[in-house]
Amino acid sequence: MRLSVAQALQQARALGVDRLDAQCILAHHLGHSRTWLLAHDDAELTGAQMDQLHQHLSRRAAGEPLAYLLGHKEFHGLNLQINPHVLVPRPDTEVLVDWALELLANMSSAIPCPQVVDLGTGSGAIALAVKRGHPSAQMLATDVSPEALNLAQSNAQQLGLEVAFAHGAWWQATAGRRFHLCLSNPPYIAEGDLHLAALTHEPRLALTSGPDGLHALRRIIEAAPDHLTPAGWLLLEHGHDQGEEVQRLLQEHGLQHVQTRLDWGGNPRCSGARAPSR
Ligand code: SAM
Ligand code: GLN
Repeated sequence: MRLSVAQALQQARALGVDRLDAQCILAHHLGHSRTWLLAHDDAELTGAQMDQLHQHLSRRAAGEPLAYLLGHKEFHGLNLQINPHVLVPRPDTEVLVDWALELLANMSSAIPCPQVVDLGTGSGAIALAVKRGHPSAQMLATDVSPEALNLAQSNAQQLGLEVAFAHGAWWQATAGRRFHLCLSNPPYIAEGDLHLAALTHEPRLALTSGPDGLHALRRIIEAAPDHLTPAGWLLLEHGHDQGEEVQRLLQEHGLQHVQTRLDWGGNPRCSGARAPSR
């Protein structure tokens, strides 16, 4: 029995897969765009295409992120390869990238080639988007996961962006260097958080950080003064209810101009501060 595009989409609906996701999965299998699908809903799938499609639709119905099934995800205008070793980059993280690019633009007359680090780079999302937006940045991207670093490196190559990579835990990977700008979207979900039930496909290492979710944020903030240049900035993504605590930690460690920005949903999502000038 053969299945048409229209019938395949009906089958996806019966499995409970969102229409847009189903179109993306089907388009991926057929090697065409979504627009093509809409104009060819009577095109027929081969037996092999039907089997693969059914597998992917079932995995999507069971909650696997679309990016793992398609193998890529768009972030800040970049098409990134994605696999289950890395967090699927979130649109909220684009707020951190935009903030970083503003700071780099403001520094650019005084610091033409700023040293920038992305701690816990995952797919490379932040480092690559910032490098593309500010090509003179000398960008280092780190992760404790060798698999994540491999993928980030492959993304850098594919996008033709020059980024250096280092393996290790937080600042340990930076070998005592100082940076004009440090960026990080560390894991920040508390270990017992109910929210994790919906995130079972992504690596725990990328999501949770101690009983209150603040373990990594504390590690990064407490050693930041030793790794920032005078007036260097630290920008951190955090949970929607962690803004006040992150602000307090930044102040406690002597950082100045502490401020928080909201994500697209209006939640406090990124906080940043600057090292003293001298
Ligand atoms: N920066 C990417 C993004 O925004 O999509 C990934 C962020 S993910 C929330 C956190 C990343 O931190 C993961 O890639 C994880 O492997 C990494 N990580 C976890 N513990 C770490 C540690 N101790 N040192 C360095 N990186 C770590
Ligand atoms: N923003 C992600 C989520 O809540 C978590 C990512 C992180 O821990 N940095 O789904």
